[in-house]
Amino acid sequence: MKRTWVVAGLMCLSFAVQAETFLIENVRIFNGVDANLTPGHVLVNDGIIARISQDPIDAPDGATIIDGGNRVLSPGFIDLHVHLTGHAPANQTYSHATVAGAIAADVARHFLDSGFTTIRDAGGTHPDLARAFELGTLYGPRVFPSGAILSQTAGHGDWRHQDQPHPTLEGGSPYLFSGQVVIVDGVDQHLMATRENLRNGATQIKIMGGGGVMSQYDPIYSLQPTPSEIRAVVQAASDWGTYVLAHAYTSEAIRRLVDNGVRCIEHGLLIDDATAKYVKEHDVVISTQLVVYRALKDLPGITQTNLDKLDVVLKGQENLIALIKKYKITTGFATDLISGMYPLLTREFTERAMYWTPAEVLMQATSESAKVIRMAGRLNRFGNFGEIREGWVADLLLINGEPLEDISVLRDPDKNLALIMQGGKIIKNRL
Ligand SMILES: [Zn+2]
Repeated sequence: MKRTWVVAGLMCLSFAVQAETFLIENVRIFNGVDANLTPGHVLVNDGIIARISQDPIDAPDGATIIDGGNRVLSPGFIDLHVHLTGHAPANQTYSHATVAGAIAADVARHFLDSGFTTIRDAGGTHPDLARAFELGTLYGPRVFPSGAILSQTAGHGDWRHQDQPHPTLEGGSPYLFSGQVVIVDGVDQHLMATRENLRNGATQIKIMGGGGVMSQYDPIYSLQPTPSEIRAVVQAASDWGTYVLAHAYTSEAIRRLVDNGVRCIEHGLLIDDATAKYVKEHDVVISTQLVVYRALKDLPGITQTNLDKLDVVLKGQENLIALIKKYKITTGFATDLISGMYPLLTREFTERAMYWTPAEVLMQATSESAKVIRMAGRLNRFGNFGEIREGWVADLLLINGEPLEDISVLRDPDKNLALIMQGGKIIKNRL
């Protein structure tokens, strides 16, 4: 009796989740890996790219046919360095989590509407927000959250005003700014904070691995945290099959991080030739960003201390790009826009095209970033994406114009993204 009931229940379920099928005909495919376009047709079934063919595909029963009109079909874009909850204005007088969360919903909408079907949150955003997008409660990209950023006392994440008491020394919580950063010192606290992030649903762990621009009291040259503290975080992360990304600028900081198991360096602007070579030999990623550094000086609320530090790191940007090219270091596509600067997102495409070909920039924003995301191992519960390949997740964009010749078409997604598909679901259809 009971068994019959269960079977009937499963049958009902199979009706409820009936697979959606789309046949996208007559497109030129940029597969995320090759610099050329291949004419063809793509069948999407139940969220997955089921078939790619140069010959016409017979539409299965019930399939929705989409005429691509000879447009370019690209994998959805990926940004490796986003702070969804970091967009309250820098000169704010309000900092409650409610405000940061409400603004984050706008930021998320902007990303998905600009063709970014996946982002890696480089710290601050609670993994619950990622779950809300996944379940369809909120509109936004697929998020790989890092949870609270780990920072040592007096580190780049120690955003207290000078006269604000220490969060734990004064007997409070180690979390600052509505849980966006956690102040940790010593091996035990690093282990504990990493494990707490993983328990909450972080897919990778972010640490502040050296001095930063937007904090007031840590010099750019400062080394953060100690080798044993870094190893503790790396150990706790790798015990869950995932990796650590670290904010760092200088060669000394980067070398310490790489030596102790960090797999992804964020920013890296002051790296020298020998360290870049060392990074490549250790198969470590340098995820860097262009637009934000060029736009920060105009940010309302930026202090003279911030500007002085910005001046120091910005001088290294062209050298870093040359070294990434020289040693073919994996870099992906990342923006790190903060404090309301997210409308500058698509400017990153054209800024990069000053140094790389449009095809190379598109590979960074698709297959190369996806490779970095997959370093999360089994904590990636979404399958493979970032390339147009049979059996991979159907994150697809139909683009008006010729992005491989003129990438600036991506600056205007409302006009030039004719179709946005995420996980086999149509998000926008302007055909
Ligand atoms: Zn950042």
